[in-house]
Amino acid sequence: MNVVCLDMEGVLVPEIWIAFAQASGIPELKRTTRDEPDYDKLMTWRLGILKEHGLGLKEIQTTIATIDPLPGAKEFLDKLRSETQVIILSDTFEQFAKPLMEKLGWPTIFCNTLEVAENGEITGYKMRCEKSKLTTVKALQSCGFDTIAAGDSFNDLGMIQASKAGFLFKSTEAIKAAHPELPAFEEFDDLLHAIEEAL
Ligand SMILES: [Mg+2]
Repeated sequence: MNVVCLDMEGVLVPEIWIAFAQASGIPELKRTTRDEPDYDKLMTWRLGILKEHGLGLKEIQTTIATIDPLPGAKEFLDKLRSETQVIILSDTFEQFAKPLMEKLGWPTIFCNTLEVAENGEITGYKMRCEKSKLTTVKALQSCGFDTIAAGDSFNDLGMIQASKAGFLFKSTEAIKAAHPELPAFEEFDDLLHAIEEAL
């Protein structure tokens, strides 16, 4: 049985922290893993900024609710989910993803979890496992699934390369140049067609 594993940010929705920085008017939050490779350090710094601005989970979810999926993403996902099983594999947090999943018609997402105090303050976070995308794809394969994967970033390469078919989607020129062996697409119709061929 097939399961399609899709990255979320940059593929179905904009980068959440960049969109959130714009929506909230806090430009410091545009800092990403490209600027700070230590994810723990980056997240701790981000949570500090949120606290400084008095932003709890509720305020953040309200702001994230103003962010829309990429044009065509919902139609693509609806069509794909009518043809096969789909799981969104993301390094984001379920509480951040929730307003976006609503706009995408509540697809299944496997991601991480924020620790939230009773007053709504975000006190920490829990990552589900190491190299979550590759680990999850391997776990799915271990119980009889064939995986097909697509994503845009470095952290997607593991699941893309480990799958029976894998695609870059809306990726960077540098990643595409470094991986000429991976089919790369920019349009949802082209990605859908390639996935259908692989099913
Ligand atoms: Mg991405």
